Amino acid sequence: TPARPRVKRVLLKLSGEAFQPRNGGQGIDPDVLASLAAQLQELRDRGAEIAIVVGGGNIFRGLKGVDSGVDRTAGDHMGMLATVINSLALQAALEKRDIPTRTMTAISMPAVAEPFIRRRAMRHLEKGRVVIFGAGTGNPYFTTDSAAALRATEIRADLLMKGTKVDGIYDKDPMENSDAVRYESVTYDEALKKQLRVMDAAAFSLCMDNEIPIVVFNFFKKNEMVRVFESEPVGTLVHQ
Ligand code: UDP
Repeated sequence: TPARPRVKRVLLKLSGEAFQPRNGGQGIDPDVLASLAAQLQELRDRGAEIAIVVGGGNIFRGLKGVDSGVDRTAGDHMGMLATVINSLALQAALEKRDIPTRTMTAISMPAVAEPFIRRRAMRHLEKGRVVIFGAGTGNPYFTTDSAAALRATEIRADLLMKGTKVDGIYDKDPMENSDAVRYESVTYDEALKKQLRVMDAAAFSLCMDNEIPIVVFNFFKKNEMVRVFESEPVGTLVHQ
């Protein structure tokens, strides 16, 4: 297995699920936000340039709207707005720690956040500001995984860090199989051949085409994010 690449500029993708209260309730857990902010501060102190894409699944998913009679496009708009809610909550938690943070949205809402302008995002990162990308790609029928892959490519991130609730990518579902084995690393081709679900197909192919390495790691494990940043062999690396 190859050594993990040294990284500086990272794009962190977190599902809305990561923000969900532990008791299974809806909305945003303030304890999760506080602990996430502390970990991001640690990352920043270690020299990371940090961009973040957050999901919205803890609040709304487009397909849920379809179930209740909202058409897909409107539902997806609602889902993208949900990601903005999470983005603003995360921004507030970071600012509480005096970490300079900018939220940029793919759907313009200048009263709430800056519009996404790539050059401006790059500038924020160079100045050490944490940048949160809200509203996904701005387009319906996409996911925040695709937004993460797209933004990682645009800002030329060294690594896409995908936080999940398991320790990485396994040969079978680790939640259902106690003998599931975690891959330390896989190539894009292996991941495709073995049909390992790293991200949705659109997001995965964007990363593959642009050679953005991905590490899938356990977001709920303490210090795991820092270990990923420090190139320790935790989680699963997907590489060329
Ligand atoms: N969404 C979208 N376009 C995007 C990103 C997200 O339409 O580029 C919508 C979609 O409805 C999705 C919802 O926003 O269900 C929340 O995003 P996602 O499901 O990716 O959040 P996560 O599962 O990561 O919490």
